[in-house]
Amino acid sequence: MKSGSSKLNAAWHIAHPMPKNPSFEQRVKWHLEHQKHCGCRKISGKLAEEIKKRNKILML
Ligand SMILES: [Zn+2]
Repeated sequence: MKSGSSKLNAAWHIAHPMPKNPSFEQRVKWHLEHQKHCGCRKISGKLAEEIKKRNKILML
């Protein structure tokens, strides 16, 4: 198996499906985990703002 060439972490996605009707909070949490493990999706809009805030807190 090759490593480092794919940005999609399929195994992570299988283990962490997005809830069917996610609340804003659920989406934030999902994307926070997602960006740590996988780079297949960019975050935009309000969600990106919220995640930036939380990343700052996490990095302190
Ligand atoms: Zn992904």
